[in-house]
Amino acid sequence: MQSQNEERICELCKRKVPVTTVHHLTPREEGGTDMPTAHLCIPCHKQIHYLFTNVELVVLGLTTIKSLLLEPTIASYVKWIRKQPAATIPKSRKSRHVREARR
Ligand SMILES: [Zn+2]
Ligand SMILES: [Zn+2]
Repeated sequence: MQSQNEERICELCKRKVPVTTVHHLTPREEGGTDMPTAHLCIPCHKQIHYLFTNVELVVLGLTTIKSLLLEPTIASYVKWIRKQPAATIPKSRKSRHVREARR
């Protein structure tokens, strides 16, 4: 399914990343099975689904990369993720807190 040996480019943040995942721009649950997909890095893909439900993506018209990039919350996220190293999957605050508590 996915090759780990070549670099992929995330269509949202445009970073070169080791792995991309397939995002249905129109969610399958909303009839998007045969609709366009985008290849996204794991943090971007998580972020989209963390911010919006499948119904919201359709209702808000966030069914193209262009419209996702114009959405203010996504836009500020993309600005931030572009500065992050490609191999790093951002950790949650909780895990950092747990790590520090172990010292
Ligand atoms: Zn990305
Ligand atoms: Zn998705």
